[in-house]
Amino acid sequence: MFLMKLGEDLTKEHMKRRLEITNLPRNLRQQILEVLDVAETDIVNQVPLSLETRGNKRCCVCPRTLDRKGRDTCITCKRNLCADHRQAICAFCI
Ligand SMILES: [Zn+2]
Ligand SMILES: [Zn+2]
Repeated sequence: MFLMKLGEDLTKEHMKRRLEITNLPRNLRQQILEVLDVAETDIVNQVPLSLETRGNKRCCVCPRTLDRKGRDTCITCKRNLCADHRQAICAFCI
């Protein structure tokens, strides 16, 4: 069961990566968004286009409105985490 879950997560992570491809066909993009059950605006705001890890960036776990920043990153998705959510693998990747 664990491996199945892991495989599913990896697939989703892969799909998120594809969303970063700006010239992805519109209908394919829409399908991925539906599978991931997210709004396009969430992807745009939560997944950095580059894997730049230097400097403080907004924590990917905290609500965007809190605008909390941190320089620690998840080893899996490289998104930034604030001091409260600092851990090797973020809540989204567990
Ligand atoms: Zn946080
Ligand atoms: Zn992560």
